[in-house]
Amino acid sequence: MAIRKIAVMGHPVLRQQATPVPEKEISKPEIQNLIQDMIQTMFEYDGRGLAAPQIHESLQIVVMIWDFDPKIKPYIQVLINPEIRALTQETSSCWEGCLSLPGLRGKVDRPNKISVQALDAQGKKISFEAEGFTATVIQHECDHLLGKLYIDKIKDLSLFGFSRECTQFLIQNEAINPE
Ligand code: ZN
Repeated sequence: MAIRKIAVMGHPVLRQQATPVPEKEISKPEIQNLIQDMIQTMFEYDGRGLAAPQIHESLQIVVMIWDFDPKIKPYIQVLINPEIRALTQETSSCWEGCLSLPGLRGKVDRPNKISVQALDAQGKKISFEAEGFTATVIQHECDHLLGKLYIDKIKDLSLFGFSRECTQFLIQNEAINPE
């Protein structure tokens, strides 16, 4: 296991469409080690989610801290080859941050309800629906696999800036996604 270097905005790997992981490869050490590296790197940099392209691996893998349900102890959710579908036109907005854009924040609108289909770390098919903040975090991470960054979705660039100034002047009782 190793802590890996984070790719920051401007590196082409963040703008590539990531490659799906063949189902039979998931159990192999290369992929399992990569997942462990992603988890370790996410914790090291205080992220709440990380996509493989963010550590220079153009593969469709996302790891997330799943702490959305106060009744369940937080755990790590791994999504491989995720497919996301919006279930509503309604949007919710969130001040998003990203380890690949250190020190910055921006206000982004995204569909409020989504369905997710993916494989987990064991290669098992999973499908579920997510709403609100959970849906925001999943969409943010999965966008990395499409070569998209949250800044692509900011409609009003006056609501984009350095975290400290955003917190001081712009954010008022609104949802914040910490990186
Ligand atoms: Zn990100």
